[in-house]
Amino acid sequence: LMWPRATPPRAWNGTGSTPHFSEIVLGRCFTYTQLLRPELGHADCGQIGKAFTNAFLSKDPCHSSEQDYQLLLKLTSQTIPCHSSVFWSKSTQLAHLYTRVRQDMFTLEDTLIGYIADGLNWCGDAGSYEMNYQSCPHWRKDCINNPVSVFWDTVSKRFAENACGEVQVVLNGSVSNTFDKNSTFGRVEIHNLHPGKVSVLKAWVMHDIGGVYRPIKFLQCVKSPEDSSCRK
Ligand code: NAD
Repeated sequence: LMWPRATPPRAWNGTGSTPHFSEIVLGRCFTYTQLLRPELGHADCGQIGKAFTNAFLSKDPCHSSEQDYQLLLKLTSQTIPCHSSVFWSKSTQLAHLYTRVRQDMFTLEDTLIGYIADGLNWCGDAGSYEMNYQSCPHWRKDCINNPVSVFWDTVSKRFAENACGEVQVVLNGSVSNTFDKNSTFGRVEIHNLHPGKVSVLKAWVMHDIGGVYRPIKFLQCVKSPEDSSCRK
């Protein structure tokens, strides 16, 4: 039983929760575990969906914590083979095109938890059992410890801690802060790589390419990097 709320939830400066958040989370979880990576077919998507919403519902959306996401992290643990982790910063499109061609390589968004949450928004309210679909705290304008920022910091940290062997990062050479110390990569991930496990960090500093046909060739070259037309 619930009391009708006395006051409407606070209006924040960020976009509200994604419509149909819970259904999208459940659908993505089943897509990933049943179709994309059947080796994770044992994952319990019902439990994962519940752990995700329980991490932030009925809580102050400016006091989210790593602790809130611990059960969700446990339920989505996944082993990524050594030499296959790809980090990125300000290069989301190119990095994900790369791992789409190279199915043996993983960005965080190619893992179960990153696949489920990518592009979604979510928050609750301390005085309600519901999600707030009207607005959520903006990480700059309202508060940094909001459910979405804390989530990405937490899962990015785990992704980096678990990386091993030769790892890669795709950086954007066409922006002024190619290595941004305030980005998730510069602030969280790079500091959580284990020197005992990670032997090399290979940084791909990619520049915007002008020509119309070159991007397509670049993608072809991902698959055949030793081809003569890809070597110069
Ligand atoms: P980036 O600067 O390109 O930011 C990536 C996205 O996260 C952008 O949409 C940005 O607006 C948002 N973002 C960055 N910091 C934020 C914060 N504190 N609160 C809310 N949103 C924030 O690149 P980055 O920050 O270096 O993050 C990319 C790296 O971190 C990747 O290696 C990935 O593993 C992980 N990551 C992924 C996501 C995602 O949305 N899929 C978000 C954050 C971090």
